[in-house]
Amino acid sequence: GGVAANPKSVADRANQKDKADRATHEQVLDARTRLVLSALVNRGYFSVIEHCISTGKEANVYLAFPGDNVPPEPSPYPPTIAVKIYRTSILNFRSRKSYIEGEHRFRGGYTSAKNPRKMVRLWAEKELRNLRRLVQGGVRAPVVIEQRENVLVMEFLGQGSTASPRLKDAEISNSKLPRLYGELLVAMRRMFHHCHLVHADLSEYNILYHAGHVYIIDVSQSVEHDHPSAFDFLRSDIRNVEDFFQRRSGGEVRTLGIRRTWSFIVDESVGLTPEEEQGDAGEDRLLDILKTWLDAEPEAAAGDAVAATSEQKAVDDAVFFSSYIPRSLGEVYDPERDVELLRSGQGDKLIYAGVTGLQIADGKGGEAEAEAGAEAEAKA
Ligand code: ADP
Ligand code: MG
Repeated sequence: GGVAANPKSVADRANQKDKADRATHEQVLDARTRLVLSALVNRGYFSVIEHCISTGKEANVYLAFPGDNVPPEPSPYPPTIAVKIYRTSILNFRSRKSYIEGEHRFRGGYTSAKNPRKMVRLWAEKELRNLRRLVQGGVRAPVVIEQRENVLVMEFLGQGSTASPRLKDAEISNSKLPRLYGELLVAMRRMFHHCHLVHADLSEYNILYHAGHVYIIDVSQSVEHDHPSAFDFLRSDIRNVEDFFQRRSGGEVRTLGIRRTWSFIVDESVGLTPEEEQGDAGEDRLLDILKTWLDAEPEAAAGDAVAATSEQKAVDDAVFFSSYIPRSLGEVYDPERDVELLRSGQGDKLIYAGVTGLQIADGKGGEAEAEAGAEAEAKA
């Protein structure tokens, strides 16, 4: 407002802010939420809520300690618990519609849920399921324990009662950044191929630096990898990661650029079998492969070469960003042209070749071609 110069109004505003803060807490901890919390306490999931770790637009996160009769699972039960409480106000959930629309798991009534409580419960459920999928798929993420209505109970990532910092706030030496960059790319690849998810809000805000590794959090909006907007979300996730590591390291960390990161995440194979990609050994193997991809970049010998390389990368990325990326063979723009490109060995001109399984180098091409051909006929 235009009255900021008046000292009285400053006091008023402070007062208002105070009120707003109180309102925020009351809004999260409405009567029903408090009932849910006491039910969880009765079951022994946690005893007391210690303090608030974060107040976000859609949820608050609290630190809690386990009760006396802790549940048997997960074993061992974490010494500290994070309790995420989703706000039951509908305001911010409108913008989330696009994430849920087109997702088959949520078709049939859910989207049109007029009941904000239901809507919010849905997000909490989704976060529970997605976090489970991450952990099962070998991605570092908090272990989820329980979800009830708008309350999610999970492992607390921290030391004692101090929460681990977000990547944004973490103090990390430049020498450690390349390793974390690699881990994150491996996590994104696993998320896509093993968990069949795209984070859709991945950035230094939703990654925690915990125990020397990167942990992924905040996945209530994550989408199935075949969601109509999955590829758009993935592209901006990739861009955020790319930008963060460039910015944080002052350009010192080598990154793949958006287009090649895309390949690294989405390509069916980067030279390993699915079994070889699993577990800690799999992560190391993927990190080795990432190194060869990074080394494959033209060596920047002179100043000119650097300019040319990063310029080339920027052009590559710009082209990539404006390209149309079909999600399935059914969406291939001109199948006949594409099959022709493949036949004449120019398949690399197809940005999406790795995605749709069109690549012929690995001997699966015959099938893909036949499929694409059939598609072409069907369209003709
Ligand atoms: P939102 O961004 O929707 O408010 P997040 O899931 O990103 O919700 O959580 C908000 C913040 O709470 C995070 O940035 C992080 O600092 C903290 N946080 C969330 N989950 C945990 C956890 N399991 N352990 C420690 N801190 C957490
Ligand atoms: Mg967040």
